[in-house]
Amino acid sequence: MGADDKLRKVVIVGAGPVGCLAAMALAKQGWAVDVYEGRPDIRLPASKAAAQQRSINLAMSSRGIAALEAIDPNVSTRFLQTVIPMRGRMIHDMQGKETSQLYDRDGQCINSIDRALLNEDLLTEALRASNVRVFFRHRVTAVDFERRVMVVNDQDENRTHEVEFDLCIGTDGSYSVVRRQMMRVVRMDFEQMYIPHEYLELKMKPGRDPEGKPTFLIDPNHLHIWPRHSFMLIALPNKDKTFTCTLFAPTAEFEQLNSRETILSWFGKHFPDALGLIGADSVLDSFQRNPRSSLITIKANPYHYKDRGIILGDAAHSMVPFYGQGLNCGLEDVRVLHVLLQQEGVDPSLPDAGLRTRLARALSRYSETRREDLLAIQKLAMDNYVEMRHAVTTPTYLFRRAVDKF
Ligand code: FAD
Repeated sequence: MGADDKLRKVVIVGAGPVGCLAAMALAKQGWAVDVYEGRPDIRLPASKAAAQQRSINLAMSSRGIAALEAIDPNVSTRFLQTVIPMRGRMIHDMQGKETSQLYDRDGQCINSIDRALLNEDLLTEALRASNVRVFFRHRVTAVDFERRVMVVNDQDENRTHEVEFDLCIGTDGSYSVVRRQMMRVVRMDFEQMYIPHEYLELKMKPGRDPEGKPTFLIDPNHLHIWPRHSFMLIALPNKDKTFTCTLFAPTAEFEQLNSRETILSWFGKHFPDALGLIGADSVLDSFQRNPRSSLITIKANPYHYKDRGIILGDAAHSMVPFYGQGLNCGLEDVRVLHVLLQQEGVDPSLPDAGLRTRLARALSRYSETRREDLLAIQKLAMDNYVEMRHAVTTPTYLFRRAVDKF
């Protein structure tokens, strides 16, 4: 306990998957954990409906699973029961021919998971601990790291108040307020870059088997890609036998698709088989109702401030989604921080001076050791941006894979 005999407080800004896993980790280490989330509780029916508007699933790899395992093995075991393993890519060419490219000779795979379910489950897990509280519809507007106080706007009460903390963790996504506030006190190198592509989500409904039961229209154990050089369509399976499809294309290409006729003729020209599978009405509906979103890369250095602030997840290293590692890395951030806090003997019951020294060392080691790995993954993600939409179709690539097999 501290001098005032209260539990030391960590505030976490953002209850996305990274924030929730961070809450679980810090609660295990004995901190009083208060999570502030600007949106309503994602478990409420209205929030679920909003979440289903976009980005329904994502690929989780062994990196993310290892992070869940390190914080709570039961959670990772449960997740593995809800995923759909994807053993390779399925390339769809212009003639509708499918070619499978396995990811691994020994059968390792990536896993399609429901993003909302993952977030909900981690939130529920975090709230199981008696020392975790989550404040929904509480938006953090400013952080004063010198005073260790942040300003929170309670949207239900329509009032703003100050919250004290010992440690502030920013898991508030790509447009992080915590990062912006930290930049005022840290000599942080910062870089953000948009790529010329945007993305739009579409849905492939299930088919029906002879008995009328829903079935997948294409193989569920592959990540499907329709590479078309400067743009591409991908599809990941969902447990309800649907596929979430994502169209990545340059803004200029999207801009031309401004009427029913242009959308359908463009889709029919470049993705004739996918148009048949998704259906013309569903394609048009997605273009009309779903947002077109941009893709950003964010780099920061360092990720922490003294003994009192750190950014994790997209807040620290947003990346393009083509390597399927953004969230996996965010979860890994929590694992790495968890280990460093333990290695440095950070114990919230230590007297102030000892705790602060150890915290400062752990956070500093985090920034020093994490950066190189994150930069490497960000580079791989950007390289895969070209590989997925273009290189997978080239003769050199196909030859290389054929040779690799032997
Ligand atoms: P977020 O999920 O962005 O959560 C941030 C939270 O903070 C939100 O709940 C937000 O409401 C809250 N918040 C923000 N500001 C405030 C504030 N001021 N006060 C209070 N709360 C606040 N990654 C993978 O690993 N595999 C994939 O296959 C994959 N596919 C992707 C596909 C697409 C199209 C995209 C765009 C991304 C994909 N990603 C993938 C990346 C992944 O979605 C992100 O890395 C991940 O969501 C980041 O999680 P996070 O918890 O750091 O941030």
